Amino acid sequence: MIDLSVLEGSSYVVLGLARSGLTTVRALVAAGIDCVAWDDNEASRDQAAKIGAKLVEPATIDWSKVTALVISPGIPNLLPKPHPVAAAARAAGKPLICDVELLARAQPNNRYVAVTGTNGKSTTTALIGHILEKAGAACEVGGNIGRGALDLAPLGRDGIYVLELSSYQLELLATFRAHVAVWLNITPDHIDRHGDMAGYVAAKEHIFDRQREGDCAVMGVDDDYSRAMFDKVSKRPRIGAVPVALDRPIAAGISFRAGTLIDADGYLANFANVATLPGDHNAQNAACAWAACRWLQIGREAILGGLESYPGLPHRQERVAALGRVTYVNDSKATNADAAARALSSYRNIYWIIGGQAKEGGVAPLEPYFDRIRHAFLIGEASDLFATQLAGKLPFERCGDLQSALNAAHARAQAEATEPAVVLLSPACASWDQWKSYEHRGDAFRAMARALPGAETVGRAA
Ligand code: ADP
Repeated sequence: MIDLSVLEGSSYVVLGLARSGLTTVRALVAAGIDCVAWDDNEASRDQAAKIGAKLVEPATIDWSKVTALVISPGIPNLLPKPHPVAAAARAAGKPLICDVELLARAQPNNRYVAVTGTNGKSTTTALIGHILEKAGAACEVGGNIGRGALDLAPLGRDGIYVLELSSYQLELLATFRAHVAVWLNITPDHIDRHGDMAGYVAAKEHIFDRQREGDCAVMGVDDDYSRAMFDKVSKRPRIGAVPVALDRPIAAGISFRAGTLIDADGYLANFANVATLPGDHNAQNAACAWAACRWLQIGREAILGGLESYPGLPHRQERVAALGRVTYVNDSKATNADAAARALSSYRNIYWIIGGQAKEGGVAPLEPYFDRIRHAFLIGEASDLFATQLAGKLPFERCGDLQSALNAAHARAQAEATEPAVVLLSPACASWDQWKSYEHRGDAFRAMARALPGAETVGRAA
């Protein structure tokens, strides 16, 4: 846990007592820093009380004595409607911050790598952490992935914090400085919280705030918003700006496509045999990780070694089992068509398990990939909609639940496959109709696939 005793003499209100809020309270209490806490949910309040939080009715807070409101990034503080505690803090002129800001204040002498973007944040963050660790650098990985910022270990001066930062977290920083800021891509998302696309991009742009001479911005430049941002950021004096582009030569930058990249010096790195980094999208993540690690002076061979040994993250095109020519892949994190498209573009001969709670548009946007699919297996609430959308375009059957779908896909794939094939759970749907979360759904799929008679366990043991 991070030692917050540097904050002595200040006083905080902590709003939101889930993962990061509870850790914040724990760290503040351990350091003897004055703080009160609140969550609208009674069970969360009870949990916080158990770790020594002083709970306070929001209406009774004396804001004149408060240094800042530490708000959970998931709680709206402006749009669509500010939480009353956030509104009260603003009215009293108090800053709104998050746990990452407290980490920056407590560990001001470390270097920070911050990763943001609409897609690929977790993968790129984990990958950078893995490469640094393999290369022998002292580092801690967290933020929006894995452990919350204040749950990380205190590092000595040379240590590097690698943090995944969401747009919500980036808006709640005041002194945090990214020595290496990684910007992957931008597509429309979270518009309810940011008002419009301009608001969303502006929130993400905070990743470059307070960068100084010698710092670096690594930026994917394959969408219009990111290209415009690169033009802006690359004009900043004395900040290194490294563009990362799909399949085209790019001055002083990195060009990538599935399984390979060419860096600014013309060095070609081949990672096509790395099963945990399939597809162009993962090549973008790998190229951005490459640029960030090069900036941190990690040697090329060491980075390549890190890419080759990357274990992957659960639920993101996670290979879980194999039998004969068929690999079983858990992509439960693909809760919308856009994410499922990435997986579909990575394989051929796909036996595709889809369904759950449909998102707007359903699977219609995935039609360009239908020639890769041998057969689809429909589950959950979306079955009627998907049956209509797939009719006449793809062979499919309705299976009801995940176990029936896996059994059917397994039987068909084993009977038909004459070349490498995948049974792929990439549902393009939320999980809540039949599961507690996408993790719950993916864990179940992993266990079911590994339990198939004769199946060999592959990938990380989760
Ligand atoms: P995030 O943390 O931003 O949600 P993840 O690394 O968890 O991103 O990946 C989630 C999903 O997003 C993946 O399963 C994949 O479908 C897609 N994805 C990953 N990297 C990229 C990328 N660079 N560009 C577009 N989509 C991506």
